[in-house]
Amino acid sequence: VLETVGARKSFGENAVLSGVDLKVHKGEVVAIIGPSGSGKTTLIRTLNAMESIDDGDVLYRGKPVGYTRLHDGTRVPVSDRTLAATRQHIGMVFQQFNLFPHKTVLENVTFAPVELGKLPAGTAKFMAMKQLRKVGMAAHADKYPHQLSGGQQQRVAIARALAMEPDAILFDEPTSALDPELVDEVLKVMTDLAAEGMTMVVVTHEMRFARAVADWVIFMDQGAVVEEGPAERVINAPEHERTRKFLARVM
Ligand code: ATP
Repeated sequence: VLETVGARKSFGENAVLSGVDLKVHKGEVVAIIGPSGSGKTTLIRTLNAMESIDDGDVLYRGKPVGYTRLHDGTRVPVSDRTLAATRQHIGMVFQQFNLFPHKTVLENVTFAPVELGKLPAGTAKFMAMKQLRKVGMAAHADKYPHQLSGGQQQRVAIARALAMEPDAILFDEPTSALDPELVDEVLKVMTDLAAEGMTMVVVTHEMRFARAVADWVIFMDQGAVVEEGPAERVINAPEHERTRKFLARVM
């Protein structure tokens, strides 16, 4: 289980997370929806310590993510090595793909497992090709990111996350930077992953995807969870006025 408990975060005066409880069980797909600026990105980034929290906890299998607590409760950041190990378990896919521009597709996927000493180069290459086949990008293994469409780059980014054999993958608006005609190819890869039982947390504006693929949907507004529940229920029959208004605008 990956969870936040009473997570709080402010940027200066701006309270971006005001006590968020989130629970992600193994094999579950959780979609986080809500208006721009509601804190979705900040929340998902706390789940692998790309963003720190001011108060509360982020826990993976009951252990704090990115910090430890002293006996008096003070939070202390963990070493870079410990952090890297955590991020091996909890992968991330970004809105802007974030591929290494000067590495080929194959090198992008093999880089982390080799660099972190997880796999020898030969095995990493074999595994990378397997992941690239899975996202339909094996034929492009020797190309550079700039030679690919956004949808193709994002599929490579997903293969790169998979290469670490993570327990869970966080997707932060993975299709928001794509031309509309490229969205479906990325959602298809994500749908396949979900069907295989991958644990996924997805910040998304794609309500059809959330309804079809997510087990659980969280609606956030102004740094708080306003409503959550099974995807069908929250999206088809929202209980809160704010959720209804948001969905009426985006669907
Ligand atoms: P969007 O859908 O537009 O990406 P969001 O729901 O993901 O929005 P966040 O990106 O989490 O929202 O941002 C929530 C608030 O926190 C916004 O008001 C934003 O301006 C602010 N914010 C986010 N990151 C920072 C930062 N590094 N420094 C200062 N303010 C920040």
